[in-house]
Amino acid sequence: TTPPVSNFLRNIIDQDLKNQRHATKLWAGRPGPAAIQSTGQVDTARIRTRFPPEPNGYLHIGHAKSICLNFGLAEDYGGACHLRFDDTNPEKEEQEYVDAIIDMVQWLGYDWKYQNEDNLYFASDYFGYMYEFAEALVQAGYAYVDEQTPEQIRQTRGTLTEKGTNSPWRDRPAEESLQLLREMRDGKHPDGSLCLRAKIDMASPNINMRDPVMYRIRHTAHHRTGDQWCIYPMYSWAHPVEDALEMITHSICTLEFEDQRPFYNWILERLRDLGFFTDPLPQQYEFARLYLSYVVTSKRKLRQLVEEKHVDGWDDPRLPTLAGLRRRGYTPEAIRLFCDRIGVSKADSRIDYSVLEQALRDDLDPKAPRSVAVLDPIKLVLTNFPEDKEEICYAPVHPHNPDAGKREFPLTRELWIERDDFREEPVKRYFRLFPGNTVRLKYGYIIQCTGFEKDENGQVTTVYAEYLPDTKSGTPGADSVKVRGNITWVSVKHAIAAEIRLYDRLFTDPHPDVGDKDFLQLINPNSMQVVQGWVEPGLVATPDAHWQFERLGYFVADRELSTPEKPVLNRTATLKDNWS
Ligand code: ATP
Ligand code: MG
Ligand code: MG
Repeated sequence: TTPPVSNFLRNIIDQDLKNQRHATKLWAGRPGPAAIQSTGQVDTARIRTRFPPEPNGYLHIGHAKSICLNFGLAEDYGGACHLRFDDTNPEKEEQEYVDAIIDMVQWLGYDWKYQNEDNLYFASDYFGYMYEFAEALVQAGYAYVDEQTPEQIRQTRGTLTEKGTNSPWRDRPAEESLQLLREMRDGKHPDGSLCLRAKIDMASPNINMRDPVMYRIRHTAHHRTGDQWCIYPMYSWAHPVEDALEMITHSICTLEFEDQRPFYNWILERLRDLGFFTDPLPQQYEFARLYLSYVVTSKRKLRQLVEEKHVDGWDDPRLPTLAGLRRRGYTPEAIRLFCDRIGVSKADSRIDYSVLEQALRDDLDPKAPRSVAVLDPIKLVLTNFPEDKEEICYAPVHPHNPDAGKREFPLTRELWIERDDFREEPVKRYFRLFPGNTVRLKYGYIIQCTGFEKDENGQVTTVYAEYLPDTKSGTPGADSVKVRGNITWVSVKHAIAAEIRLYDRLFTDPHPDVGDKDFLQLINPNSMQVVQGWVEPGLVATPDAHWQFERLGYFVADRELSTPEKPVLNRTATLKDNWS
């Protein structure tokens, strides 16, 4: 493995470690999760990062960038990375998504255990702390209960060029706000009637600092806390608290949160001054999110594709969800390699889909066993090959790895070959089968085409040829006749029938999620083609097994549908790039 390429985050961490910014400090007496508390002391000389998904959908390739970054940094620096479910919004969150997210982080090969800590957390477990801190902020005059409607709050917030205006409730006595906050918590007020706001500065040039809302009332059951709470914290207030409770050192998020950083710091500094936390506080850093061509990664759009059945579930192999990519045949190593290659920076850029596909090829090429399949079969009859004869041919399992051994398969009189490997009339530079031409049956004999047959629609059904004895691959006579074409084949009697799914891009437009395009209008109607093909005898299509089919590309046995008796194969990628 090559040493990690430096980036601005690594430079920051190197600097922090050099300065011992996160020197060991005692946990005792601080609020926070038991798993860390039980260690008594947290070695924050090492870094602590987190990956904080909201369990409201499936993870996608963009999340992989964040996972590889956060878990990867922790791994490289011998620190910890927490998996934290940011489940502060009860409306759209579900246990199904929690389970799917855990599955995918593990599939990518990452672990949230660190020494004797099991760093899997739920923000909802901190609702009690958040409430306690909120009361303290109110008492200290840093927050107030506002009685304006959500609409009034929006209207008085101002704009980029116009200052906001103070709420009439802004300067009410702390005691009054405290009383109302308790009533909010106790369910005495309907949704939207009151909210808790930070008291900062309605004239701030940063709109996020104009008294942001901290708590709102939602009489909605939560997937973990049930009916225990009817007030829920806003993300921008909950997140710094979650980070501080877990003693996160580097809180890495995407660029759109840059404007939230002042509020993140404001909250933590106030809570520090009130004695809840101590320096050094967690520090937020931003990096550019991943934009990949030909896909949509917004959860809302992905959900729409799934719910309106434009695709077949969250793990449809055409989706850029991690579950979909896995089912498509992507390996965790390929995704990690991709994330390494794209790197992290502070500038948004679009990554071409071909970069992802190339990472897959580079991962699979050295390790995928080779095999042969025929996707669009026509019959080839070797008229001078005896009816009952079966001649064993040999091929390497992997051309560059002799240790992987050899495959064996029989050559017989009737074979399946690709329709495309025969032409009635050759075009220029076509070296495969046409009447009179000679080609090699890969790993077998040289054959000469003698004729063909068509059905009433003019479709070629059968090609006839004679084989040239003494020209078998690997024998002394192999090179006695020179040919320019080399075609793959399987024996009709021995081939295994397989359902093969050929996928293409889901969208016809390289940027389906840009601007106000109607992405549903851009769906490629031919994104999946199902063919009945034939595969090499000996191929065992257990779920997730993968191969490089010679000349065709990388294929995987579908993890949901494939059995060795009835293979269902997905084309993961062709051998050559056809995206860019
Ligand atoms: P969406 O906007 O599609 O709903 P999200 O960003 O809200 O996605 P979260 O579950 O909140 O989804 O994301 C968890 C983490 O993954 C966040 O820290 C977020 O920054 C990161 N993340 C999400 N999408 C991308 C992306 N395209 N590139 C890099 N990181 C991402
Ligand atoms: Mg989010
Ligand atoms: Mg979002």
